[in-house]
Amino acid sequence: MSASPATPDPATRPVRARSSEPTTTSAAAIARRPRRMPSVTTTARRVTLAGLNAYYSDNHAVKGIDLEFAPNEVTAIIGPSGCGKSTMVRCINRMHEEIPGARATGSVRLDEQDVYAPSVDVVSVRRTVGMVFQKPNPFPTMSIHDNVAAGLRLTGTRGAKLRDRVEQSLHAAGLWEEVKDRLDAPGIGLSGGQQQRLCIARTLAVEPEVILMDEPCSALDPIATLRIEELIEELKQRYTIVVVTHNMQQAARVADRTAFMLAGELVEVDSTEKIFTTPSDSRTEEYVTGKFG
Ligand code: ADP
Repeated sequence: MSASPATPDPATRPVRARSSEPTTTSAAAIARRPRRMPSVTTTARRVTLAGLNAYYSDNHAVKGIDLEFAPNEVTAIIGPSGCGKSTMVRCINRMHEEIPGARATGSVRLDEQDVYAPSVDVVSVRRTVGMVFQKPNPFPTMSIHDNVAAGLRLTGTRGAKLRDRVEQSLHAAGLWEEVKDRLDAPGIGLSGGQQQRLCIARTLAVEPEVILMDEPCSALDPIATLRIEELIEELKQRYTIVVVTHNMQQAARVADRTAFMLAGELVEVDSTEKIFTTPSDSRTEEYVTGKFG
């Protein structure tokens, strides 16, 4: 069935239309709205967790999680503080093991590649699976340009290719127009939202296939948050995206699928609309309707 000319096609509805929405809209109402489908598919990879456990010494923080993240989709991870969301995503790019006493068991695959196989180069895993953190963390002594170029220089990229890649990455992070005339200025001189987009540009520069975002907007104001959410929508056309968030409206706005975790376990994962309107598990319903958390 084709949409009549008088009815805007939801697939082409500008994302920016959200900015005029009242902030009180419930996550369930947001989740019911039609969402844009990605129009371009590139090399994004499927991430598959199977029987994933993560520990901090004796603390069993992530318990036997089976979960898939599909290419060109945004998956939100929600759940109360301390339920293991960050730990779970840090296992995907092997950052968890950097913490003394921390270990993980089970498997994480990027398509068919086992991320924990002994032959795997951890640095290349972290390049393929980029990460954006809660607090924007530009390299404090570096210019805007050098923040984006830093990872590329480590891979031997130089000269015109380096400049082009820095520009492309800043474009892709939606920051180029705002910084193109001051690339030599310090990265930490930017606003919080711009710094977070700079960190996203830095992540994109090394050509990841999966992007993990751990509460990427929790330190930002509502306008900067909206800008990042729009960017997530654009980026999913090229990447597999996992977003940890405590903000249920945000999950409803940006995510195609939502996973609910509780006490280290995955309670359920489903389309975002289903999770926020008719979840299968009563604990999910209690959480998304604000009865605890
Ligand atoms: P969430 O992201 O859902 O808030 P976390 O993954 O941060 O949850 O935490 C899960 C559990 O792991 C909690 O019990 C927390 O105290 C513990 N934990 C998290 N980070 C560390 C750490 N660096 N060292 C020791 N324990 C940690």
